[in-house]
Amino acid sequence: MSEKQKLLKELPSVDEILKGDAGVRWCRAYPRRYVLQAIRDVIDMRRKEIMDASSTDVSVEGMTGEIEMKIEKLSAFSLQPVINATGIVIHTNLGRSILSEKILDNVKKIAESYSNLEYNLEEGRRGKRYAHITGILREITGAEDALIVNNNAAAVLLCLSALAKGREVIVSRGELVEIGGSFRVPDIMSLSGAVLREVGTTNKTHLYDYKNAINENTALILKVHKSNYRISGFTEEAPAADLKKLSEEYHIPVMYDIGSGCMIDLKPYGIHSEPSVREIIKSGVDVVTFSGDKLLGGPQGGVIVGRKEYIEKLQKNPLTRALRIDKLTLAAFEAALMEYLDEDKAVENIPTLKMLLQKPERIKERAKQIALRLKRKCASGGKAAKIEVTEDTSKAGGGSLPEIEFPTYAVLISPENISVNDLEERLRKGTPAIIARIKDHALLLDARTIRADEIDSLVQGVNAALY
Ligand SMILES: *Cc1c(COP(=O)(O)O)cnc(C)c1O
Repeated sequence: MSEKQKLLKELPSVDEILKGDAGVRWCRAYPRRYVLQAIRDVIDMRRKEIMDASSTDVSVEGMTGEIEMKIEKLSAFSLQPVINATGIVIHTNLGRSILSEKILDNVKKIAESYSNLEYNLEEGRRGKRYAHITGILREITGAEDALIVNNNAAAVLLCLSALAKGREVIVSRGELVEIGGSFRVPDIMSLSGAVLREVGTTNKTHLYDYKNAINENTALILKVHKSNYRISGFTEEAPAADLKKLSEEYHIPVMYDIGSGCMIDLKPYGIHSEPSVREIIKSGVDVVTFSGDKLLGGPQGGVIVGRKEYIEKLQKNPLTRALRIDKLTLAAFEAALMEYLDEDKAVENIPTLKMLLQKPERIKERAKQIALRLKRKCASGGKAAKIEVTEDTSKAGGGSLPEIEFPTYAVLISPENISVNDLEERLRKGTPAIIARIKDHALLLDARTIRADEIDSLVQGVNAALY
């Protein structure tokens, strides 16, 4: 018998490893099928290594580490936390808004127990799912009534279907937008069964364009926020308040898809381009729709606020049942909306608002702290990179406040023994994944979106990725 054949015979069996101490421990902690798969894979790998003479180790101990790593990889969750070092606060690819502990506590409380989701405790009979948030939404926005569906795309679809099916909806050509992830106004319109009536031109739509398009088959005037682009130069659009006058004259409701949905007055922060939901309702718009997880900083959802007669029509539409939100979303919304009863509390307690509106000096402090700790760690590990704090700007993201550059501070890393692209990739593939930005041949970690409790993992991750 050759040396190789002898070694192959000595290789442990799957069963032998499975019944050993490690095997028993793995089976307790991980799905058995993944334990089996990992053991098989590593034995196969070792068999090949023996064949091509790259290994002679046939001990169980010699395989344990590799098997364990494979099991961990196989049973890791696909959806996992990442560190957002892009500075983009409402990053749709990274999950848009993050939720505060207080909001999550409420979600947990409702999730682990039965609740009065659709049960009226006062009267001892069936209650309404949405009753839990209409009161608070009325309070914050000043609207008569409210509803929340699965997301804002669903909210727009529902409104068009329930209020304008088979009839015409007037929209400015300058507002036939496509939002990332294939939300296109004309497509949603045809899906809803409403008929799109385009008016005006790309850059200019006057009030008389709307007026001239009104006929006996007009059901709705729709205004759409140009969330992710700007038309500048020779432009004109009809303000919501003017459309309202037209709407009153012809008894046609005005709907406004405002996209982001800001619940506070941003003017004290120097932002004048984004009216609050309250201001829009006050201007007389009949139905307003917006996302729950953009500027509002809550869970995914499509909030609809407006006149009672229209919200009631929406509630009766069968689509509402198909687009309904679950109790976890509802619990998160109620807790998030509660923060808005005092605007200063919202700015402090809603992570999205806090990250967007924090003072640049505070971001600078955090950037300095990260840079200092990185420098120390990398110096002690013998890693070669230039590390310094730099001034930059960040964007809100998620189609919110597209024209605004928020001054920020970032940690700039110029690695010496590895390319910037390789560093970016290694960070992205690490655990936890770190998503950074590349600018002018350097890697930027924007401190705006890095939480204090993430700094430890960030420093470790960057150190591990450098050479
Ligand atoms: C973001 C956005 C949408 C889509 O909202 P979702 O909550 O992502 O479905 C629709 N309209 C406008 C104007 C938007 O900005």
